[in-house]
Amino acid sequence: MMSDVSSVLIVGGGIGGMAAAIGLAERGVQVELIDIDPEWRVYGAGITITGPTLRAYRHLGMVQDIASQGAITNGSRIFHFSGQHIRDLDEPPIEDGLPATGGIMRPVLHHIMQQRVRALGVAVRLGITVAGLNNVPGGVQVQFSDGSQARFDLVVGADSVHSRVRALAFPHMGEPERTGQGCWRISIRRPPALESSEFYLGHRYPVGITRCGEDMVYMWMLTPHVSRARHFDANELFDHLQANLAGFGGSAGWIRDHMTRADWINYRPLAARLQPGPWSNGRIVLLGDAVHATTPHLASGAGMAVESAIVLAQELARASGVEAGLAAYEARRFARCKDIVDTSIAVGRLQMDGGSPDAVGGLIGAALHRLAGDF
Ligand SMILES: Cc1cc2nc3c(=O)[nH]c(=O)nc-3n(C[C@H](O)[C@H](O)[C@H](O)COP(=O)(O)OP(=O)(O)OC[C@H]3O[C@@H](n4cnc5c(N)ncnc54)[C@H](O)[C@@H]3O)c2cc1C
Repeated sequence: MMSDVSSVLIVGGGIGGMAAAIGLAERGVQVELIDIDPEWRVYGAGITITGPTLRAYRHLGMVQDIASQGAITNGSRIFHFSGQHIRDLDEPPIEDGLPATGGIMRPVLHHIMQQRVRALGVAVRLGITVAGLNNVPGGVQVQFSDGSQARFDLVVGADSVHSRVRALAFPHMGEPERTGQGCWRISIRRPPALESSEFYLGHRYPVGITRCGEDMVYMWMLTPHVSRARHFDANELFDHLQANLAGFGGSAGWIRDHMTRADWINYRPLAARLQPGPWSNGRIVLLGDAVHATTPHLASGAGMAVESAIVLAQELARASGVEAGLAAYEARRFARCKDIVDTSIAVGRLQMDGGSPDAVGGLIGAALHRLAGDF
């Protein structure tokens, strides 16, 4: 039980919000979690679960579920975009007994986390958001969008890149900025030759494929941002992605030749921003993409959100008071999140400037090495 935090409102039931709900509820805090989506859904992409992300999920007791319902692999294979194998990346486990790396479909991961949230007795309210937040002595008075009001000892804003909590309570912060690249994704059945993650380099559009289950993968491709693509309909998304894959061999070429219009395809411009401190205002605090939004270049945004949630619960539990706990949370998270955001933006810039695969790989490899250190 935490000293002066017994009731917490979490705004946003995504990866970071659910991880925070789990970490706090496990310590005996009464948690209410709200999400703006009445059906609490997530889109149909896959997600890469790196070693550090698996380590964070180990803290939440979820690695076995991820392994059995997703896919665990022991390394990645690097190919020239034509399909010629260049080398294998050895990715040793970062902790004894921890799988090295993996992937899972986002809806499956959400379902695993949602079950745990429900099992811990977290009160979940859907289809609502916050309309007003006021720090009052020892807590926060919250106005909800349905007109109701309540008081909580702490409010956690985990409502992602366009955070409403951030807009309401953190005037010194701003919206994440476009980086100039966009990400195309497709979820599709597994190419027969693919066993572990694969990267296709040497083309102006880098591609990666992550296994997310026995028979499912998702593939991503990074291109300079196409301003019209946001408004493409499903057929146009299909046509453009297939055309972008011209000349690719290996599993990427297989996907080009076997993709169908029924497969989930998405395009999203990339945006990132490490928000300046302080990350808390009185009894209101931010975590996840709301405060450390990054690009997918290190496949670590979700891992950072889960780590931040774990650290927040740990520091609140160990501190003598809430303010000290929130300050300790920020002190432990800021430099690590800055490293991820800065490096991800730098990798994207290098790709847009035509940097060699070795230069890009060097930046990514060094960052992943640093990430393997304790959080
Ligand atoms: C193209 C792309 C690929 C990526 N690939 C990877 C990857 O492979 N591996 C990885 O680790 N990370 C990846 N990421 C990053 C990762 O998806 C995010 O960092 C992670 O989801 C952040 O978690 P979050 O809880 O902060 O936000 P989210 O998971 O986005 O959850 C936010 C939740 O808040 C809710 N919400 C939004 N607004 C409100 C509101 N006003 N009120 C109430 N609720 C609200 C939403 O409905 C949602 O449920 C990728 C990101 C992108 C853009």
